[in-house]
Amino acid sequence: MDFEFSSEHKALRDTVRRFMHEEAEPLVREADETERFPRGLFRRWGDLGLIGARYPEADGGSGMDKIADCIVREEIGRVSQAFCAAFSAHSHLGIWPIWKIGTAEQKARFFTPAVRGEVVACFGLSEPEGGSNIRAMRTKARKVDGGWRISGAKMYITNAPCADFMMLAARTAPELTASSVSLFIVPLPDPAVRIDHLRKEGLRGSETGLLAIEDLFVPDSGLLGGRVGTYPVILDSLAENRVGVAASILGVARGAFDEARRFARQREVGGRAIVEYQAIAHRLADMAAAIEAAHWMVYYGAWRVDRGDLDMSTASKVKLVASENALKVTEDAIRILGGAGIMRDHRVGMHHRDALVYVIGEGTSDIQRNIIARALGED
Ligand SMILES: Cc1cc2nc3c(=O)[nH]c(=O)nc-3n(C[C@H](O)[C@H](O)[C@H](O)COP(=O)(O)OP(=O)(O)OC[C@H]3O[C@@H](n4cnc5c(N)ncnc54)[C@H](O)[C@@H]3O)c2cc1C
Repeated sequence: MDFEFSSEHKALRDTVRRFMHEEAEPLVREADETERFPRGLFRRWGDLGLIGARYPEADGGSGMDKIADCIVREEIGRVSQAFCAAFSAHSHLGIWPIWKIGTAEQKARFFTPAVRGEVVACFGLSEPEGGSNIRAMRTKARKVDGGWRISGAKMYITNAPCADFMMLAARTAPELTASSVSLFIVPLPDPAVRIDHLRKEGLRGSETGLLAIEDLFVPDSGLLGGRVGTYPVILDSLAENRVGVAASILGVARGAFDEARRFARQREVGGRAIVEYQAIAHRLADMAAAIEAAHWMVYYGAWRVDRGDLDMSTASKVKLVASENALKVTEDAIRILGGAGIMRDHRVGMHHRDALVYVIGEGTSDIQRNIIARALGED
């Protein structure tokens, strides 16, 4: 066992940290206020090879690994979880399935420019009737001459308002079974897809859409993989991304912790820095322990991805612990700051709003527990 990052991983971490501090941090406040994502970041992440961190060089990636991808997400999340949500929907959910099962033509047209940050991707899975039950999907694709006609709705789709294409999940058979779920690549904008920009309490610096899809034509070349057999790819993609998302939530917890510790050292009450009060020091100690627990789970999950044997239950454990710990840590950070924690001059409130999204997004904590419990029954 080796608990050390390699020198390449450390160098990557320093690069992302510097970039996020110098170029992205100044954009956070405006993005949070305007609820618009600064799209130029995709180009810069592409230039730095961050989008392709976990993809092989032969496919246009940076040839590193999942540990590298998690380092990137942790450092982005530390500054802005909203920016990392945009990164995740693009660099993983929107393009990982193309990398995995796409044709050479699909890779050249969508994957390669996306890894460079030249175009923006999104992933349309969740629907207004419920995001937790994928198999109950109502969006339907009907086979027609030369392609498919798709109608339905997609809810809470990150990047949709600014995306150049969408990885769209739809049912291609009337029965509600796993084999009836297929994936399509849909260039955007398209007159058959109306996208409403949703306003949010958390992740305000990322853009989220409600999509109404009415009789959208997708040519046969837009079907990803076969009509049948894509469901396991979706599940694998979600499992891997639960580890990636956990890395970014770990970053949020660190961001909140850093601010709380700084504040506790500077803020004086009753003639003493508040960090000298045991109540504050113990709270910081609990936060540090919760962050450390999430850290090891995230990088264990990444290591399992790199070994090619990540299972759903492990991914769910990683995501469950990282998100619930981050929620607690960010709340504790607000408590340490007192009234200042409620003020927008500080970032802890934003971090808490953002952490709250991730006990829901990417599968709620209840759903993670269902997956873990189901696996316990299989022991
Ligand atoms: C900011 C944001 C960004 C998102 N981005 C994307 C995106 O890019 N692409 C995408 O496809 N989706 C996206 N989502 C959707 C997200 O994955 C869903 O919100 C999530 O899966 C939950 O679905 P739901 O909101 O419909 O809740 P529901 O499924 O309606 O669940 C409501 C409640 O019931 C509970 N519940 C439901 N079923 C069960 C069960 N079987 N057992 C126990 N409890 C249950 C849930 O835990 C929850 O508490 C995003 C969501 C948010 C908030």
